Amino acid sequence: MPKKLIDGFGRHINYARLSVTDRCDFRCVYCMAEEMEFLPRKEILSLEELLQVGTALIASGISKIRLTGGEPLIRKNIMWLIERIGALDGLNELTLTTNGSQLPKYAEDLKKFGVKRLNISIDSLQGGKFKEITRTGQLKSVIDGIHAAIDAGFEQIKLNSVILKNRNDDEILPLVDFARSKNLDISFIEEMPLGEIIEHDRQVTFYSSDNVRKIIDNEFGLEDSDKQTNGPSKYFKLKNSTSHVGFISPHSHNFCGDCNRVRITVEGRLLLCLGNEHSIDLRALMRGENADVETLRQAIEASMSAKPERHYFDAADQPQIVRFMNMTGG
Ligand code: SAM
Ligand code: SF4
Repeated sequence: MPKKLIDGFGRHINYARLSVTDRCDFRCVYCMAEEMEFLPRKEILSLEELLQVGTALIASGISKIRLTGGEPLIRKNIMWLIERIGALDGLNELTLTTNGSQLPKYAEDLKKFGVKRLNISIDSLQGGKFKEITRTGQLKSVIDGIHAAIDAGFEQIKLNSVILKNRNDDEILPLVDFARSKNLDISFIEEMPLGEIIEHDRQVTFYSSDNVRKIIDNEFGLEDSDKQTNGPSKYFKLKNSTSHVGFISPHSHNFCGDCNRVRITVEGRLLLCLGNEHSIDLRALMRGENADVETLRQAIEASMSAKPERHYFDAADQPQIVRFMNMTGG
């Protein structure tokens, strides 16, 4: 019988998001500061250590791993890791969240090494605005990346868009239309208070998923759907289309009751909740004496009793989480 990881609230934890780098070729305004200091090399897990973590996660009962970052595809020799994680016994699903810029180069190999589903982030279809939001990104590289992914034939490609009021809320319908025209799914994400940013005031730019849903429903029509993925998205089907539209609403709808996941930062911290700091240091275990997969597995299992019941992004007395999303792993 494969192992099952159960937390202190009876939730079955079978999904891990593994951050393979804190670096990125973009500097999205909601994710990073303009001038970022990235971690020194020795502080981040080596590719071998990341593989050891992946192996221990699967030995603990995790069956789905999503690689993320930072931008996972800019980590040097990342394909070495992906090929090996993809071949681990007991892994049912290997997925990746990417900004798409490196997909023209890597889409085919990702498919070959067992990645079945891809999430590609895109917040604007206008070159100038795309640049404003990502600061250093080029829209063309991402559109080319989406096309490369379609050509490679992944089972599912989902676009992810963060909507900010008065920045890209006028792009909701064009983004849905784009996804529909390519038979892709798309999820809209509410901005989360991760990392301190000065570029905008998050309370001012907040745009609720409920609003996004109304706008799409009025224009295209949305039908109930029982589609479920590993995540907290609530899905609807677009009328007269195979595309689904998802909404991730950490503010408007608390999704903690169904939480099935843990995250591993690129420094090897096993984070038990996106909105809390409860964590254990897998890197220290790996770099200590007698480090082996069994030691890691036991630590992962033991950590389940410390997983918090829920996060409180909105409560005034709760501090903002100081880590940026690129540290947390999406
Ligand atoms: N670089 C890859 C990408 O952009 O898809 C993977 C990492 S990125 C941190 C993962 C996802 O987190 C992206 O879809 C991004 O839009 C989203 N994200 C980043 N910062 C966020 C924030 N403060 N609130 C909500 N979503 C955020
Ligand atoms: Fe990079 Fe992704 Fe963060 Fe944008 S959201 S800065 S692409 S890690």
